[in-house]
This record gives sequence, C-alpha cells and structure tokens, in this order.
Amino acid sequence: MNNPQPVAAETSAEIGNPLLPLLHQQQAAFLNNGAPDYKQRIEALNKLKKAIGEYKEEIVAAVQEDFGYRSDTETWITEVVTVLNEIMATKSHLKKWMKPSNPGRSLSAGMAKSRVIYQPKGVVGIMGAWNYPVLLVLSPLIGVIAAGNSAVIKPSDLTPKTGEVVKKMIANTFDESYISVVTGDVEVAANFTQLPFDHIVYTGSTHVGKIVMRAAAENLTPVTLELGGKSPTIINPNYPISKAVDRIMMGKFMNSGQTCIAPDYILVHESKVDELVSTFKEKLTKRYPSVENNKDISWIVNDRHFVRVSNLIKDAEERGATVVQVNPTNATISEGTRIIPPTLLLNVDTDSNIMHEEIFGPVLPIITYRDIDQAIRFVNERPRPLALYYFDNNKKQADKVLSRTISGGACVNETMLHFANEKMAFGGVGPSGLGSYHGQAGFLEFSHKKSVIFQGALSPAPLMNRAYPPFVVKVLKVVSNILS
Ligand code: NAD
Repeated sequence: MNNPQPVAAETSAEIGNPLLPLLHQQQAAFLNNGAPDYKQRIEALNKLKKAIGEYKEEIVAAVQEDFGYRSDTETWITEVVTVLNEIMATKSHLKKWMKPSNPGRSLSAGMAKSRVIYQPKGVVGIMGAWNYPVLLVLSPLIGVIAAGNSAVIKPSDLTPKTGEVVKKMIANTFDESYISVVTGDVEVAANFTQLPFDHIVYTGSTHVGKIVMRAAAENLTPVTLELGGKSPTIINPNYPISKAVDRIMMGKFMNSGQTCIAPDYILVHESKVDELVSTFKEKLTKRYPSVENNKDISWIVNDRHFVRVSNLIKDAEERGATVVQVNPTNATISEGTRIIPPTLLLNVDTDSNIMHEEIFGPVLPIITYRDIDQAIRFVNERPRPLALYYFDNNKKQADKVLSRTISGGACVNETMLHFANEKMAFGGVGPSGLGSYHGQAGFLEFSHKKSVIFQGALSPAPLMNRAYPPFVVKVLKVVSNILS
C-alpha cells in the first residue's frame, strides 16, 4: 500500500505557494508515523531543552544585535529561563494530561463507557512577534509538542538574526519533517498564513491578527490569536503608592515597555496623582540613574517604532499633556541609539493618539478618576484589554473590579505575573486575542478533544425500543413528561 498522503484539495491561494511542499512533507510524515507517544514527546521536549542549553549564548547575542541593545538580563529571564521552566513543568505533568478523561456515564448512552481522548491535530503553524522573539515561538512550540503535533515556525522578520539562530537550532535538533522553521519577510508570512495547517498560533498585533484569521478561514484552520491592546492599571486610593509604583515599574519598563502585557496607562484617584508622580520620579531616578549607556535599558527595536513612540509623546504634548521625562543626568540621546527615557504623561487628552493605540514603549499616561465606578466605565468604554491590573487591599472591591471588567488576564496588587505562572491559561479576549495556551491550556488548545463511546453488551436504544422504526412516540412522551 502507498504511504498516506494529505487529502485536502489545494485552494487557489495554495497553488504555487512555495511553502506548500514543506507542509505536505510534514503532513505525510505525521500520517505515516502516527501520533508520537508519551515517550517520544518527552524525548522531543528533552531535545528542545538541550538545544536551548547549547544555543543560549547565541540567542542572547542575536537578540542583542536585533534590538541594537537589549538588556542581557532581560533576555536571559524572558527568552531562556522562562522557556526552560515551561519545558520542565510540561514534562512533569504530561502523562496526566494525556490520559483520556472520563466525563461519566449518561442516561441516554446507557451503560456505555464515555471517554474524551486528546488527539494531536496534525501540523501546527506558529508565528511569533519580535518583542520576545524566542519566547513567543518556543513557548507555543512546547504545547504543540506536548499535544503530539508537528510544527512549522515563522519567527518575526523584525528580529532576523534571532530568527536565523532559532532556525539553525531547530534544524540541528529535529527532523525537518517533524519541526522546521521558515524565515523571511511579510510576503513569506502571508504565504505562511495561507497554508492549510491543522492549527495556527499567531502572536502579534490585532491588525495583522485579523489578516491571519481571514487567511486561515479559507482553509477553516482553527486559530489561536495572541494579540495586544491597552492594558489599564487602576490604583485605589487605599493602596500604598510606593508599593504600587514598584510593581508597575517592573511591568512597564522591562524591555522598555515593549511587552504585550505591560501596563499601558494608569487610572489613579485625583487625590493621589501628585504623590504618584513624585514617587515615580524618585524611584525611576534610583533605578535608572542615567539613561545613557545604561546596561539595564533596552532600546526600541527599530527606527520605525522609535519614531512611532516619539510621535505619540509629541502628539499628546501638542494636545496639552505635561511630559515628565526621567533623565537624571539630562543626557542628550545620541542619534541612532533608540533610547526613550522613562516618560510620564499628565493631563492627557483622551482623544490623543496615545490613548487609542497600544504604546509599546516606556511611556505611561496617567489619567485621574473621582470614583471607582468612573474608572471601571473608562475601561469598559474601550476595547477589551489583554491584561488589567488593580491595586487595592480591599478584597471585595477588587472582586467588584474583576467581575465588572473583561480582560484576557488580570493581577491584583501586581503586574505581569499572571503570565509567569505556567499553570494558568494565558490569552486575550475579543480584540486582545482568541484562545489561550501555557501549560495544560496549551496542551488542550493544540489537541483535538475526541469524544468516544465504548458500548458494552447492551445498547439502550433497542432496549427502549424507540431508536429503530417502527417508532413508538408514546414512550418518548412519557420520558419527556418525566424529564420536564
Ligand atoms: P505584527 O502583527 O506586526 O507581526 C507579527 C507577525 O506577523 C510577524 O511574524 C510578521 O512577519 C507577521 N506579519 C506581518 N504582516 C503580515 C501579513 N500581512 N500577513 C501575515 N503575517 C504578517 O506584530 P509585532 O509588531 O511583531 O508585535 C507587536 C504586537 O504583538 C503588539 O500588539 C503586542 O501586544 C502583540 N503581542 C502579543 C503577545 C501575546 O502573547 N498576546 C505577545 C507579544 C506581543
């Protein structure tokens, strides 16, 4: 018998797609080999872990080159340690996750055993964003491998050196017919989205997310969209400002604000705004005593984004905002260095561009409110964010804010760390994303949940004598009378 071949007919967008042969190669291998078992998945995760160990220095250097300057510490934490940690956690739970689940018997199915089997979907396409160029392709890959799929990865074209290191690392670790990487520009990315994958995980902007979903719809390919948005941070007046500032700084200024879940803007009670600004100034000065040649300040990734963020500040200022830039030595930023000092914006006109587009830079608009309901309304009048941060020691009030706002994830008295617990699903809602992954959530997202009935000697249908004609409606009437 010939080896099984993918059966899907080619759509017009696929004909001539240069990436199609690679997908067909992976699909054929997947069908021939069958789903990898537990041992094979663990082996693949071990290989990935070993590869990261071998390439970690190269990864850190490549990210550094792509950004012009990126704090090494930030790269070690976010691109290396976080991924290794997720591999370990996945390995320790995988056996349990792979077990078919038992939803229990049902009256209508009689004595039949019911099981939900977690089956790999097939070949998954993974597309990453540039802001964490290794994490955002390897973290989904962990879930994809755990669920037993093959993968083709497309790293962001804005961080090409890192993309090439990831490509080399994967090529030297896995067979191309199992996991492979394609690199290239937007045209390659567009071709990628038009492939009839069995699932696509895309991380990037909401705008491109819509393009990806449109292309995937042609093939009815399911998508996980990890998008962005403006994540609000609300500070209740009862919460100590100093503590809030410490925690907001961690989320906002890491990677110079180029983080999808960075606090985008602050809503603070009007009685606390002066204390908030002076505390920010004091703490930022301590943390970044100079913005020039500071090894802890990452650059904005490229000139286009540098100009974009600079223009957001300019536009807000032109519309009446007060700009507070924390540049303790008054250093002049040399041309081409792409450093933006930590910047606070006060009295911001909410029609300013900065209040309409995700900032993705170290700029923090501060908006005041009079009562908490006004702050909640402010959030709800805008697109549903990827994260929401609320600072308050009153649990009841915190519960109210959590229940009255809808966001992908949230932290109370903290920022960003909901991402760090790999045991929790991570994803957006509405314009900030669709679907989720991390840990078991990723395993489930990339698995097909196949419901199976194992029938025993007796089937209820003939017993009830009503599943096969001639039907006796009377019995069903009696049943519905009992049930209603
Ligand atoms: P982007 O959407 O510009 O690019 C992401 C990917 O899409 C890249 O690989 C790119 O090559 C590809 N792409 C670009 N144009 C395309 C097209 N026309 N067709 C198909 N593919 C195309 O996003 P970005 O600028 O790289 O990333 C920043 C955004 O990503 C921010 O909005 C941020 O919030 C979001 N983000 C989200 C998460 C999350 O987990 N939710 C994580 C990081 C970043």
